Amino acid sequence: MTKTVYPGQTIGIIGGGQLGRMMALAAKEAGFKIAVLDPTMDSPCGQVADIQIVAAFNDETALEELAEVSDVITYEFENIDYKGLKRLTEYAYVPQGAELVRITQNRITEKAAIREAGVSVANYVSATSLIELNELIVEVGFPCIVKTAFGGYDGKGQVLLNSMSDLKLAEPLFEHGACVAEVFVPFTKEISVIVQRNGNGETYCLPVGENIHKHHILHETIVPARVSESVLTQATIAAEKIADHLKLVGTLAVEMFVLEDETIVINELAPRPHNSGHYSIEGSSISQFHQHIRAICGWPLRKPVLHQSTVMVNVLGEHVVPLSNAISKYPNWSIHLYGKNEAKVKRKMGHVTILTDDINKTLQEIEHSDIWSE
Ligand code: AMP
Repeated sequence: MTKTVYPGQTIGIIGGGQLGRMMALAAKEAGFKIAVLDPTMDSPCGQVADIQIVAAFNDETALEELAEVSDVITYEFENIDYKGLKRLTEYAYVPQGAELVRITQNRITEKAAIREAGVSVANYVSATSLIELNELIVEVGFPCIVKTAFGGYDGKGQVLLNSMSDLKLAEPLFEHGACVAEVFVPFTKEISVIVQRNGNGETYCLPVGENIHKHHILHETIVPARVSESVLTQATIAAEKIADHLKLVGTLAVEMFVLEDETIVINELAPRPHNSGHYSIEGSSISQFHQHIRAICGWPLRKPVLHQSTVMVNVLGEHVVPLSNAISKYPNWSIHLYGKNEAKVKRKMGHVTILTDDINKTLQEIEHSDIWSE
């Protein structure tokens, strides 16, 4: 049952990272109160929340406490304990449900769901042991990528196999459970669509982003993606089909590969706001965080309109000091830092958003700034 949650009421967020923080900041604009559950005190979201519950995500008592103080509960990451979330849905208002988390936590169920929605994924097989993979891998061929079905992120838990003689490289992955082997996709671009839907089925996609990774971590998102109209349309339709099939409430990020022949295949899904949608805070008439709050609170959604071409660049630990030193040089840059206390190398600490009339010039300005030079 869809209910409306009103300003003054409390939104509970499981997870206190930057996604929770940006959800909280959006919600606070409309006068909501925020309660957050995170294992650390003063997490990025905890710093802007009204109530902090400091405990493990699977701590039953802490989840009950969160339910007691919250009128609606959402989450900012998908690796929460599914069973704990499922139990929570039985006594608290969790409009997103637990099913989407169950499906997207595991690459095998995720890929099956995408196919059921009538959308393409790269040809793949799933296996529970190296012996089984050895038998099935001919169906995929080489080169292929083996990925742990559960728990991988940012390229972790993956190996590229170029031939049968590489098979042994995949052995350690099976220590983490079942794996998928998927054909290596010779993509020309990686793009993503953030699709958002409320309990009444109202659905909007944010403008399509083009993603550039460095060391398997998102480096830049360029919006609109520099692809043809046909690819933009296919991408949006695919995201909407998946959202409808999964009866999405809230936010789903759909990462895709674009092929030479201008078709797309889906790489993976994330059931939450996504790094590649951060540009929308300044770039779009409605940000992914505002829209997410509207969706889970049963409010009508707003149609996203891109104000101007936008580039988002991630700020990792090693970029914080050079960025801080350069602030005076770049008055047009919107600086976001997430309040994390330790600027570890490769840790996501913040991002910069730049609205521009000239994407190439802006990309060059970023490259020549000496902040992201490595
Ligand atoms: P993932 O963790 O699945 O998002 O993969 C991380 C990155 O590895 C992607 O953003 C791609 O750059 C690359 N990658 C993953 N799967 C494939 C594939 N099947 N073919 C080619 N590149 C891939």
